[in-house]
Amino acid sequence: MFKKNLFTVVTMVLLAALVLAGCGKSNEGASSNNNDTKKEEVNLYTSRHYEVDDKIFADFTKETGIKVNLIKGKEDELIERLTREGKATKGDLFFTSDAGRLHWAKDKDLLQSVESETLNKNIPDNLRDKDNQWFGLTKRARVIVYDQKKVDKSELSTYEALTEDKWKGKVLIRSSENIYNQSLVSSFISLNGKDEAKKWAEGIVKNMARDPQGGDKDQAKGIAAGEGDVAIMNSYYFGQMLNSEDPEEVKVAKQLSVFFPNQETTGTHINISGIGVTKHANNKENAIKLMEYLSSPKVQEVFAEANYEYPVNKEVEPSELLKSWGPFKEQDLNLSELGENNADAVKIMNEVSWK
Ligand code: FE
Repeated sequence: MFKKNLFTVVTMVLLAALVLAGCGKSNEGASSNNNDTKKEEVNLYTSRHYEVDDKIFADFTKETGIKVNLIKGKEDELIERLTREGKATKGDLFFTSDAGRLHWAKDKDLLQSVESETLNKNIPDNLRDKDNQWFGLTKRARVIVYDQKKVDKSELSTYEALTEDKWKGKVLIRSSENIYNQSLVSSFISLNGKDEAKKWAEGIVKNMARDPQGGDKDQAKGIAAGEGDVAIMNSYYFGQMLNSEDPEEVKVAKQLSVFFPNQETTGTHINISGIGVTKHANNKENAIKLMEYLSSPKVQEVFAEANYEYPVNKEVEPSELLKSWGPFKEQDLNLSELGENNADAVKIMNEVSWK
């Protein structure tokens, strides 16, 4: 008797649980506007690592019902992984820094073309691939930083001027292995021709304060340590240092100022971080939706600010810090060319023994 009652109660509880679970499921289905049972998701291979992104992706999921799965890794490792995985890859989107690196991914046939009016409207022509295989999402400038006590702003003008004898032993810049400098030289090939680009690289090597070492931030630190007077670095690293948790980095950054070179001539070198749909994406539509979301004005603001970068969407203003550095003229260049000229740039840098 008792047993029978218990059995009935257990059955009823199970039934109730099933009904509730069923309700939950149908709600989920409704919120994603999708009646089939396939889980809506998108897998993003990314070298980005900012806390603010979690909120951005959570908001995207709330709006669209599409879950964003992040697979994080270093830039070149992710390219290797996509290559190795081939058709079997779970990756729908690849996000990384530098147009040169995105071009490698394109060259290795890891990406596919995307037609989206929204992306074409939100992202200027020159900041996306000529075949729409990748799209810039944030923008950075490769600037000169200088010690306010040792250098007067009036002494600075262009990248080219840093090759003059006046700067002998005073220029800090990282190695030629780094894509940022390769892309800088690529831009000079486009704007001034190979001979001029080589002349520049030669002149910089001649004026280096030391053999290249460390990353962009280490060049700024080199100025503070008295090793040189000027450094070439990406603008966001300077923003990172000003806002660093390491008081030493803040101290160094406060000693320095930002200068945007070539304002009277070809403009300051800019580059991007960007994204593309992988060749073998299983969730292409969701991937495009996420790209469009990330290029939209409201998201651009936070997405760019997370790493002290400039939004690519022209409707969006840069952060207060970036505005305080002033507006500047950018190189007028389709960034696809940075990738197309990469091999020539590397060759030039080797020829002039840029370590
Ligand atoms: Fe970087």
